[in-house]
Amino acid sequence: MKHFFDFLISHAKIYGFIFPSSEIYGGLSAIYDYGPYGVELKNNIKEFWWKSMTQLHENIVGIDSSILMHSDVWKASGHVDKFNELLIDNKDSKKRYRPEILIQEYIEKKFLNDPEKKKEILSRLYKSLKKKDLADIKVLIDELNICDPVYKTKNWTKIRCFNMMFKMKNEKDLYLRPETAQGIFSNFQNIIKSNRMKIPFGIAQIGKSFRNEIFARKFIFRMREFEQMEMQFFILPEEEIKWYEYWKKIRLKWHLELNLGDEKYYKLCDHNHLAHYASAGSDIEFYFPFGFQEIEGIHSRRDFDLKNHEFLSKKKLRIFESERNYFPYVIETSLGLDRIFLAIFSSSLKKEKLKNGKTRTVLKLPYYLSPIKAAIFPLVKKDGLPEIAKKIFNDIKIHHRLVYDQKESIGKLYRRQDAIGTPFCFTVDYDTIKTDTVTMRNRDSMKQKRIHIKEISKIIEQETGLKKVLKNLSHFI
Ligand code: ATP
Repeated sequence: MKHFFDFLISHAKIYGFIFPSSEIYGGLSAIYDYGPYGVELKNNIKEFWWKSMTQLHENIVGIDSSILMHSDVWKASGHVDKFNELLIDNKDSKKRYRPEILIQEYIEKKFLNDPEKKKEILSRLYKSLKKKDLADIKVLIDELNICDPVYKTKNWTKIRCFNMMFKMKNEKDLYLRPETAQGIFSNFQNIIKSNRMKIPFGIAQIGKSFRNEIFARKFIFRMREFEQMEMQFFILPEEEIKWYEYWKKIRLKWHLELNLGDEKYYKLCDHNHLAHYASAGSDIEFYFPFGFQEIEGIHSRRDFDLKNHEFLSKKKLRIFESERNYFPYVIETSLGLDRIFLAIFSSSLKKEKLKNGKTRTVLKLPYYLSPIKAAIFPLVKKDGLPEIAKKIFNDIKIHHRLVYDQKESIGKLYRRQDAIGTPFCFTVDYDTIKTDTVTMRNRDSMKQKRIHIKEISKIIEQETGLKKVLKNLSHFI
């Protein structure tokens, strides 16, 4: 698996999906840049999520709030006091770890065939985490004889608490937001008034978040700057269970619609250790190249945020409705854009053996997410074929994201499009001059057939548009 993950990281770089940030200066840990195809894929994922939320649900609207917010926001939200992680240092290796992850990863391997023992240790760990009994967690590490995973030494420091927000250096108490949700809560009344929203309704947002992760690794899985796609759904308090269950179902359906393989999803594991704002929470876990890990969280935040913001801001954030005055409860769905990118990318990347004994690398993305929907090539760079191919490209480029390419031989052009996940290639050859037809090659089957030039745009639209998948989803809403 390590081999596959290294291959994936290198493929992402070579083909312009993801680059290490500031690479010319030696890089910056846990920060990455998205390249030309990466940004297209990311935008397509965002569009799918955004439309699934705001277009399919008549009672969900979107916003784009600022990254920097008044520092009281983070006091009210509990992030100043409670958004902490535990850390432990190894004095020999000078490496820093999250103790609970150290324990979890250790017992995962050590007690692979002893689920009872695993359960017993985890239950003790969760109890200590809940009680903030850091001393007992350290005792657990000592009792289990856990070594530094790389340097194999047991010379540990005490366990300490560490706030994960990035504080700006020159601006006292200004933080980079660690979640997008607070921009939604602080605009709650603005949105109700400007858009005449009535409970139940939701507010969706896509944007950057920042966390000073101690143990950032695994490529784009855990970064210090990342993007979230969050939706807060405001409801009557007595309908908490109904909507919690509803959103668990809808979000899982969204994931399964991606067709990455149902077996890759660990469906909705209830949380043992809840975030400070949540009263109930489930994770959707996904089988990444390094095992099952959280990809999306669905939480009931109850009235935690609105109540605290009303208290600190002294502005009314409750609902006044038919003689009733209440704080709505909130069900949150929170998906990491970079994590879903990694899930899609890792499930789609394949090395295939061909009939002629050669291999090809192909990125079998869902068509509607592919960075480039179709490529147009001339078979050779002469006899007027490039001109015809260029004209086809220019005639339909306003409708689709296409590429025109004539830089290499046709075989190499096909391989390149396979590697970036382009569903269709259309090639202009000598028959095109006589019959106005081109060959259409499908990425997955590699089969070719002739079609009329006039059909190209319609085929791309039908096969690669979002409509089909949105329609499937809309049946569940
Ligand atoms: P984890 O337990 O993996 O640290 P979390 O429970 O802290 O995640 P939430 O606060 O619930 O995560 O955030 C919602 C989603 O945001 C997560 O499900 C994940 O997809 C994404 N996310 C959180 N932290 C990061 C990060 N450092 N890098 C990339 N994505 C992240």
